[in-house]
Amino acid sequence: MKAIVKAERKPGVTVVDWEQPVSQDDPVIKIEAAAICGTDIHIYDWVGYDFMQVPIVMGHEACGTVVSRGNSSLVPGQKVVIDSVITCGLCHYCRTGFENLCTNRKTLGLNVNGVFAEYVCLPSRSLIPLPETVGFEEGSCLEPLGVALRAIENSRIKPGDSVAIVGPGPLGLLTLMLCKQSGVRSAIVIGTRADTYRLNAAKQWGADRILVAEDGECAAVVREYTGGLGADAVFEWSGSRTGLRMACELARPGGQVISGAIYAADVSIDMTRLVRAEITLSTSRSRVYSTWIRAIHLVSNRVIDINPVITHRFPVADAVKAFATVAEKQALKAVIEFA
Ligand SMILES: [Zn+2]
Ligand SMILES: [Zn+2]
Repeated sequence: MKAIVKAERKPGVTVVDWEQPVSQDDPVIKIEAAAICGTDIHIYDWVGYDFMQVPIVMGHEACGTVVSRGNSSLVPGQKVVIDSVITCGLCHYCRTGFENLCTNRKTLGLNVNGVFAEYVCLPSRSLIPLPETVGFEEGSCLEPLGVALRAIENSRIKPGDSVAIVGPGPLGLLTLMLCKQSGVRSAIVIGTRADTYRLNAAKQWGADRILVAEDGECAAVVREYTGGLGADAVFEWSGSRTGLRMACELARPGGQVISGAIYAADVSIDMTRLVRAEITLSTSRSRVYSTWIRAIHLVSNRVIDINPVITHRFPVADAVKAFATVAEKQALKAVIEFA
C-alpha cells in the first residue's frame, strides 16, 4: 500500500510502498481522507522533533471505513474518525476523564505509525463511529475541530464577550468559528505578514477585524474595540514567543489567555503584569472523548460548517506538493485522498 513516510532525519517526506497492516484482534480501517496538520509540517521541516524514530508513517488526522472488525463491535463499512492519540485507558488520567493527559499516550505519526496510509490497524478505542451525514473530508478535520473546541471548553467565554485570536492557522480559524457560534460580540484575528492568505480567510469567516502584528497597533485596536479595556479572552495558537507575549498584552485585567500551542523554545512573559492585572493564563491539550462527541454533533447537525477550512485536495502521489503548499501557508487544510 502507499504511505507517506518520514524516512530520514532531515527535511522532506516520501511516498513509499509500505507493508499493509493485518491483525486478528484490532480493526483494520481503510483511510478515505487525511488532513495535514501543523505538527506534520514541523516534522516535514524537521524542526523540534528529533526524538522521533524513523522511518515512520506520518499523520494523525483522518477518517475512514472499517474493513475488518477484529474483536471490536464495529461493523465493516462503518464510517469512523480516528483519535490521534492512543491512550492506555488504565492510568489515573484516563480513568478520571482526562485521557488527553494519559501518562502512556502515544500520538499517531509521532510515536507510532500514523494515518497517512491506505490502511491502518488501531485499537477499537481509537475509533469513533461517525454518522453518515458527516463527509469523509469533514471527518478528517474533526481532530483539529476538537482541539479548538477543547480550548473553548477551557475558556470562560460567554455570549457578549470580546475575544482576540493570535495565529490564523486552521486552529485559530476553527476557534473563530466556534467563538462566533458561541455569541461573542467581537472577534479580532491577528497574524503576521506571512499570514495574508489566512487572515483573508478569517475575514470571510466573520472576524470583525484582522490585524497584522508587524503593523504594531494590535493592542490599541483591541482596546478601541473593547471600550478601552482589552479582550475578555485571548486564544494563542501561534506557538511563537511574540505571539504569546502579545496575547498577554491583549487581555483585559481580569481576563484570560488560553494557549493550546506548542512552542519550539522557552518563552519568558511579563508575569508581574499578569499578576497585577489578575489575568488567568490557561492551557489546553488535544481533547477528551466528550469533546469528540460534541465536535461530531456540531458538524453532523450543521451547526458549524468546517468545509471552508478544507482549501486543497491532493492524491497521495502528490503528497510532497501538498506538504510544500501548506508549509508556505498558502492553504488552510490540505486533504490527502488515498483512494
Ligand atoms: Zn493535528
Ligand atoms: Zn492513560
